[in-house]
Amino acid sequence: MPSFNPDLFRLAREERGLSQKALADALKVVQSEISKIESGKKVPGEAFVGTVAAFFGYKPEFFAQTNLALPEGGILHRKRSTLSATERNRIEAEALARMLDASALAKCQTAFTSDLPARDGRTPVEMARFLRDAWSVPAGPIDNLPLLVERHRVLILAFDFGTDLLDAFALPQPDPEAPACIAFNTNPAFPPDRHRFTLAHELGHVVLHRDEFADESDEKRQENEANEFAGEFLAPEADIREDLSPPLTFARLRELKAKWKMSMGALVHRAQDVGVLKKSEAKRIWFLFGRYGYRKREPGMGLAPERASGVRRLLEKFRESRGGDELPEFLHLARPLFDRRYGATITVGNLQGASAMT
Ligand SMILES: [Zn+2]
Repeated sequence: MPSFNPDLFRLAREERGLSQKALADALKVVQSEISKIESGKKVPGEAFVGTVAAFFGYKPEFFAQTNLALPEGGILHRKRSTLSATERNRIEAEALARMLDASALAKCQTAFTSDLPARDGRTPVEMARFLRDAWSVPAGPIDNLPLLVERHRVLILAFDFGTDLLDAFALPQPDPEAPACIAFNTNPAFPPDRHRFTLAHELGHVVLHRDEFADESDEKRQENEANEFAGEFLAPEADIREDLSPPLTFARLRELKAKWKMSMGALVHRAQDVGVLKKSEAKRIWFLFGRYGYRKREPGMGLAPERASGVRRLLEKFRESRGGDELPEFLHLARPLFDRRYGATITVGNLQGASAMT
């Protein structure tokens, strides 16, 4: 019997944003056929797998990987009413597909599991301090957050979600041998001053909740914990308290934004967290934020996005050892899909890009 992984079939469909019905129409079969294949009730023949692979831009071997485990159920149980279910599934599926690539590439390297200490009952703030310590982060603002995170082998899967209704999400890790992954939106409508807090928040989920990802019942607590973690990890109370001491004027907030590379909004929240901002004063600042339109978009203060480079480095390492032409084959991708996914990241066969690596 030919091996076939129905989960990967569903993944490819969702990645294209297609319903079962739309796929059935495109392949000229009845919908129940697609449904039976996805539920594992029917194993398709070689010819059908060939057609499907060509349609999706994968190699037929992609669907034969029965050893690959995908997380059960949806990833983004945090509901966003404005994001449709199809869109959510499409973004999740692309993130999962990229996670499978990254895991396969990472396994070519020795020691690629993430460097993450166990929570051991710590509070989010304690965990943030503990992780800074474990990762030897010097006091004060973090120099380059994606670089720090990826140096400890938590991979950032950066791609354009095609919408600004979702910033990032942490992926559950069905394979303990693979590195932890965070999907991160590079859509230009997602302002760079929100990048740091977003990434630190998702790192918080990875560090604090990786054993309870599937638990939807405690969403509110998990959100609060990830925020508490992010605040202390980016701007430890001991280091930022003095910077935030009154009077917290807008001129001061702009200076601090450039120094800490965090939005003014996140800095005001931080001042409230560490208890240096009076309630009445916070109320006044938030009122002005609303009036100036800062809740939607603040002045950028020249903050540029910090780019993740972990996946590019994995691709480069593979190319150095095995040659670039083998990359699409190794990932079971037809060339056009490989180019679409990684074309901007790496140019196969052109070693020029390697010198620009950090
Ligand atoms: Zn969250």
